[in-house]
Amino acid sequence: MKAIQIPPVLAAMNAVFERSGFQAYLVGGAVRDLLRGKTPTDFDVATDATPEQMMRLFRRVIPTGIEHGTVTVLFRGEKIEATTFRAESGYSDSRRPDAVAFGAGIEADLSRRDFTMNAVAVSLRSGEAVDPFGGRADIQGKIIRAVGAPLARFREDGLRPVRAVRFAATLGFALEAETERALSATSDVTAAVSRERFRDEFCKMLAADKPSLGLRLMEKSGILALFIPELLECRGVAQADFRGHHQFDVLDHLFYACDGAPRENLDVRLAALFHDVGKPAVQGAAQKPDASGTAQKIRTFYNHEQTSAKLARSILIRLRFPKRAVEYVSLLVARHTFHYGPSWSDAAVRRFLTRVPLSAVDDLFSLRLADIYGMTRSKSVISGARRENLAEFRERILRILEAKQALSLKDLAVNGYDLRQIGIPAGKLLGTVLNELLDAVLADPAKNTREHLLNIAGELYSAGFQSGISEF
Ligand code: ATP
Ligand code: MG
Repeated sequence: MKAIQIPPVLAAMNAVFERSGFQAYLVGGAVRDLLRGKTPTDFDVATDATPEQMMRLFRRVIPTGIEHGTVTVLFRGEKIEATTFRAESGYSDSRRPDAVAFGAGIEADLSRRDFTMNAVAVSLRSGEAVDPFGGRADIQGKIIRAVGAPLARFREDGLRPVRAVRFAATLGFALEAETERALSATSDVTAAVSRERFRDEFCKMLAADKPSLGLRLMEKSGILALFIPELLECRGVAQADFRGHHQFDVLDHLFYACDGAPRENLDVRLAALFHDVGKPAVQGAAQKPDASGTAQKIRTFYNHEQTSAKLARSILIRLRFPKRAVEYVSLLVARHTFHYGPSWSDAAVRRFLTRVPLSAVDDLFSLRLADIYGMTRSKSVISGARRENLAEFRERILRILEAKQALSLKDLAVNGYDLRQIGIPAGKLLGTVLNELLDAVLADPAKNTREHLLNIAGELYSAGFQSGISEF
């Protein structure tokens, strides 16, 4: 096989290693990418130099994982992860090796790696490949195969089954039969994997062209049951009725909606995956007349967006997502059922804006389109008309924001102090009046003057007392 073209930055880096008599190899995903004719996104280098030696060789080195022999070298504008050759021994907790032995050669280093496609090294000096496990042939054949005996390798580290599934989705490779069988036979060790490590692989999987490929493998192998059992409740929950919106059960709908979300937008992919996860809990049935007036059974999922948002929130918290992601994704889920149309009044747009920040509008539209895609798996339904709707909606929102129309209590021309001045006592009642004023202003921004609002407040207050409404 012909030598692989070494990217210039790595050739320059190699000159530094070589001058001091060290070897250096490109390993990991970058080799896979180069062999598939793709441009690598980041470089992993394996070397016989120790972290301390690398700190001396290069000027800018971050000690990112010294205990595993890893440092990050900042070199000509690139961040290169460089790791000392290692051979591991003992995985008593199925998570991390007990000991990392340095001083091994490149072949020993490759033999501890997870899959044959990840166990090819390319010499930075000659561009020649070291390929003891047939990784190049497997990359060519698009096959994910464990290095060595799959069961034993998965037992060493329960994250490997999750990685297998992640790679199947992101690369579109097939799992070799024995490797695939081992996925479901090692769920006890996979159950012991930390939620953070699972989450990181899961997020990478969600960036695949079609995450549904990996999600389905996770379902089949039992991985999903370990980390997100809520999704399994959606299997077999039918949604189809005579209205013909849905052809898939809730779980397939969620998987396909996830495919339909923009791949670079993790928030929307997560929201798409969870947007209906509360449906099983609220499913019901009702009657509705069809076109001929005959009553037909329909399926109902009343308020499912709120139940789904709650579940999404607890799943994301369990998987240790950052607080921002937990809040934002559950907001998207809670609001996913809005249907903007040109018939919306300005007041309706303003009311929408009291619940959803402008920054979320594009994502909510993306989620809407993903939801629609997930009903049919047809790209053509995401038509121009829907995109024009989005453009129009944004335009109307921007006009409202530009005009600085009131959208919250703090934008009102009066505050609690003003209301107390006209005799409304502090307390719950005052809050109710303020909210009524905001409602009036959302309906008609011209009402947002001191005079108008004090008038309305006075009327509300005395009307409340006369009719004896309990909260007044
Ligand atoms: P990408 O960076 O595109 O996600 P990658 O293959 O580089 O893919 P990394 O997680 O960056 O994946 O790991 C780099 C390399 O380290 C892998 O290619 C593999 O050889 C090895 N590796 C990573 N995690 C494991 C593991 N759990 N068990 C064995 N080897 C692993
Ligand atoms: Mg990598």
